[in-house]
Amino acid sequence: MVKIFIDPGHGGDDPGAIGNGLREKDLVLDISRRIRRQLNRFNDVEVRMSREDDRFISLSNRATLANSWGADYFISVHVNAAGGTGFESYIWNGNVKSQTRSNQSIMHSEIIAQIGVRDRGRKSANFAVLRRTNMPAILTENLFIDNAAEAAKLKDSDFLEAIAKGHTNGLVSIYNLKGNGTESGTDETNGSDEEGSPPSGEISQIQSTLNDRYALSIAVDNIYGPETQGTLLKGLQTELNKQFNRRLVVDGIWGPNTRGAVVNVRRGARGNITWVLQATLLGKGFSPGSIDGIFGPKTESAVRRFQRAQGIKIDGIAGQETFTALFS
Ligand SMILES: [Zn+2]
Repeated sequence: MVKIFIDPGHGGDDPGAIGNGLREKDLVLDISRRIRRQLNRFNDVEVRMSREDDRFISLSNRATLANSWGADYFISVHVNAAGGTGFESYIWNGNVKSQTRSNQSIMHSEIIAQIGVRDRGRKSANFAVLRRTNMPAILTENLFIDNAAEAAKLKDSDFLEAIAKGHTNGLVSIYNLKGNGTESGTDETNGSDEEGSPPSGEISQIQSTLNDRYALSIAVDNIYGPETQGTLLKGLQTELNKQFNRRLVVDGIWGPNTRGAVVNVRRGARGNITWVLQATLLGKGFSPGSIDGIFGPKTESAVRRFQRAQGIKIDGIAGQETFTALFS
């Protein structure tokens, strides 16, 4: 199993470079998710990301996360600024392994091959994430956000997909990755879907979001089965730990600890717990309208319909009893 650690630069209070209505932190998260989605179509590769959403993570923490996981390769994704055009890549300018250089060479040429922009060259610098990581590491600077022509490219989702594809192709070549058969022709290339074109369907959307949000790689098959439900429960456990300082084991199993830790979710709530609730209701056949993380009248109605069908108290509030019925 090859372990690839992807580090979308910046995030949270640190937007990175800004220009032409774009923020580096958003672009690099988008590109990183695309790389992960593409890599998930290959066997024997595991992907983790330093951040799943718009949050700040210190440079040393980014390295620590990769080091403690035992990543095989660290890829920090950035967008350039301050007067220039094109693509460049960096490795640490200290004492690096030969594999660091050969990986850079392959990654660099695969990316250039996909995006066809000015090649600024393979470089080295004393960047913290490159210095502090124990494994081969690369940092890519993908075009210039403050150049109008390049910003226009960065606004094109097909182009972001191509940047990701260059990274993916480099990794496929370095680690000799083999496809797992889910690469079904148009899925990868039609570019019509901002999310990178998963199979259509509401459950597929939920599965893709779960993969993105929690760094997973469950099947995106539009089927609500035990894997999807268990993953939604893991999502709930993760959110309870994060938002309410519970110390649940994130195992996707409904037990007394999770039941005791669950909170009441009602009209007016919004966020990932509401999202998990909506997704689970949909999976059980009680559509809450849109799966948007906002607990409005349609979600309340879905909770009531579910409660009625289950023969439990009908109050439109999802608490211990309702979550138990949804997950056990
Ligand atoms: Zn940057």
